[in-house]
Amino acid sequence: MDVLFPRSCRVCDVPLEGHEPPEHLSHWLCPGCRRGLSPVEAPFCQKCGEVFDGAADSTFQCTNCAGQKFAFEFAIAGYQTTGSTLDLVHRFKYGSDLTLRAPLERMLERALRDPRLGDLDPQHWCLVPVPLHPLRERERRFNQSRELCRELAQRKDLPMLDAMKRTRSTPKQALLTRQQRLENLRGAFAVKDRFVRDDSPLRGRAVLLVDDVFTTGATTNECARVLKREAGVQKVVVISVARG
Ligand SMILES: [Zn+2]
Ligand SMILES: [Zn+2]
Repeated sequence: MDVLFPRSCRVCDVPLEGHEPPEHLSHWLCPGCRRGLSPVEAPFCQKCGEVFDGAADSTFQCTNCAGQKFAFEFAIAGYQTTGSTLDLVHRFKYGSDLTLRAPLERMLERALRDPRLGDLDPQHWCLVPVPLHPLRERERRFNQSRELCRELAQRKDLPMLDAMKRTRSTPKQALLTRQQRLENLRGAFAVKDRFVRDDSPLRGRAVLLVDDVFTTGATTNECARVLKREAGVQKVVVISVARG
């Protein structure tokens, strides 16, 4: 296949040599762009996964999270949002390049190394993608979180339950304060009917809530709150490709 379709770096487009299997990031990215990736490594905030420059112990919480209550147990990303990571995510989302699902999912998998997650028993854990509003999804042609989730489910043999829907589109979050963001999102998400019932496959389960980029956590917090309240989910951990 490499002869017919020579590979090039998916960030900077330089031709790639060798025959790296698609399981490895080196199949997709040149050495330079791979060096431009910054994995999330300790110390990081035990709540929101924000990397901390300097020494801190394993119970460290960042100043943003101190005194804040999240509906999820914690959030963890594979990588920090540096240049190459952001380029990939943008090409995936806004360039509608579905093939980038593979390298981005490899980057997402890194989040599963967090020792707090343990072995991820598929009887207990399941994957739920953060939903996109139907209009936004039509525009983009797919929901990036669902695509990542699908690939992760396949590779890790975990059940995926596409259980949430976005019930209204919300104004852009970027210019709002944290409090305004939270209010802006109230009532924007719901659990799909068949996951609300008493025999919902979500009841008592632990959920890995999948998103592409974690920034303030306002969206995932609202999703976690709704999952627990409407579907009886026991706990929610947010995993994402990048920590913005
Ligand atoms: Zn490159
Ligand atoms: Zn934090």
